[in-house]
Amino acid sequence: TVPEPAVDATLKLVLIGDPGVGKTSLLMRYTEDKFSEASLASIGPGVDYKRKIITVDDKTLELQIWDTAGQERFRTISGTFYKGAHGILLVYDVTDEDSFTRCRTWAQDMDRYLYDKPDAVKYLVGNKIDLNESRKISATTAQDAADSYFEMTQVETSAKDNINVEETFQSIVRDILKAG
Ligand code: GDP
Ligand code: MG
Repeated sequence: TVPEPAVDATLKLVLIGDPGVGKTSLLMRYTEDKFSEASLASIGPGVDYKRKIITVDDKTLELQIWDTAGQERFRTISGTFYKGAHGILLVYDVTDEDSFTRCRTWAQDMDRYLYDKPDAVKYLVGNKIDLNESRKISATTAQDAADSYFEMTQVETSAKDNINVEETFQSIVRDILKAG
């Protein structure tokens, strides 16, 4: 077996947002370059997060990317989920207006739990941009929200067509490193 490289830092990222927006799909696309049309209940029984080793600016980083196992359906996300998170990806579906509206609630929830890391880096992620004909939330609308009340960086992705997924994770990691 190949020994694992020495890791300079371990970063915790969490994916949150309404059921069905594509959180697990983004994780699977990023860590395994796979996509499934079926709804993915969770990343695996008893699994909280997936690891990925990446190199950024000569640094070897271990990412622990946390995904819900469907608890978001009942909004029973525990403090453990957010605890120590360096970065949050708040995901909505650009074809589902409700999922965008509810980002406000998710943002309030996360701020309650992030007392131990108030300056975690936050991204507002509009997924499913491949479904352009059904789009309900424009990039401009999302950008305005991100600027005015979320104080997040706004990006758009498609887990299905592999658009901007790698770049989004790279970017949030760079922002985390910059924030120190
Ligand atoms: P989660 O509940 O937020 O984890 O969402 P899932 O990852 O389980 O995805 C929910 C559904 O949306 C599944 O049927 C996925 O195949 C689909 N899906 C996820 N991402 C995309 C995307 O970028 N484009 C399209 N068209 N469908 C997607
Ligand atoms: Mg899921």
